[in-house]
Amino acid sequence: MKIAIIGIGSVGSAVATAVQKTGLAHEIILFDRDGIRARAAAEDLGHASAFSYDIKITAASNYRAIRGSEIVIIAAGANQKPGETRTDLLHKNAAVISDIIPKVMENVDTKTVKLIIVTNPLDVMVMLAQKISKLPSSRVIGTGTMLDSARFKIILSRQLSVSTRSITSYVLGEHGDSSVINWSSVFIGGLHLDEFCKQSKIYLPKTTRNTIEHRVRNAAYEIIQGRGATWDGIGAAVADLLYAIINDEKRILTTSAVDGIGKTAVAMSIPRIIGNKGVILTLRPKLDSTESAALRKSANIIRKNFDLI
Ligand code: NAD
Repeated sequence: MKIAIIGIGSVGSAVATAVQKTGLAHEIILFDRDGIRARAAAEDLGHASAFSYDIKITAASNYRAIRGSEIVIIAAGANQKPGETRTDLLHKNAAVISDIIPKVMENVDTKTVKLIIVTNPLDVMVMLAQKISKLPSSRVIGTGTMLDSARFKIILSRQLSVSTRSITSYVLGEHGDSSVINWSSVFIGGLHLDEFCKQSKIYLPKTTRNTIEHRVRNAAYEIIQGRGATWDGIGAAVADLLYAIINDEKRILTTSAVDGIGKTAVAMSIPRIIGNKGVILTLRPKLDSTESAALRKSANIIRKNFDLI
């Protein structure tokens, strides 16, 4: 399979590395408006191929090189500087997506291509990419809260001393400050969180839950403060999403895609079944009243931001 990555900064490079390690692609095309950067990344990653899968990795100097790509990953655009929110990137990155998507669409098979959006503010960029590309919303997929869900699961795993593999837990809504921690659907080994805590004699009071929520929502800010940007986690998330698509896994992931039409349309993360056609089915999560209200608020924030561009 041929895959293209647009935007070869910290995130695009990490995505390329993670995708290379899956061995799923036979060819990866790297495109960046900074051609020198893309060529250097292709050279570096090409050397890494000698130690893993023998994948052809090429830097493209124009969009014609992405022809034949079945999946195009968009990781271009400004990232958050310390203290900035994802929403602060709205106008800058709307211009980036508006520049890239038409050029991508001229060079791919519109009947089958799938776009994976990584650029922030994620959900609004998914809406914009879907609008410009005119692709069905099932084939314009944002990584959404995959990373937030992973962060939540890891924190829970440490708190409860149980493997992440035995935990089902989701973060929903915006990939941003209004994300919704879906406590009511946390299951461990088939038991609801409260029952698990009761049986394992673990006390998880409201104050601890609030701290966990804070840590999930602020993880990116802390990483950006410490290393300038985040890239490893999102690289692994994109590779996982690709794995689910290419292997037609029909795995449930909290990805972002446009639901609804017209003025009610919004992209946000809810559990969706992912396979080789992209989003196969969107599930309606069971929420308590607080979570429902928070999810509605999150959707309104995304929609309002979309209306600003
Ligand atoms: P970066 O500054 O390191 O790299 C961005 C790259 O995009 C640069 O190489 C730049 O030349 C390129 N670029 C900009 N405009 C372009 C255009 N019109 N055409 C082609 N290339 C273009 O930034 P980064 O740290 O790699 O972050 C990239 C994006 O990913 C940001 O928007 C960031 O917020 C987002 N991000 C998303 C998640 C997530 O979970 N979805 C996680 C981390 C970062």
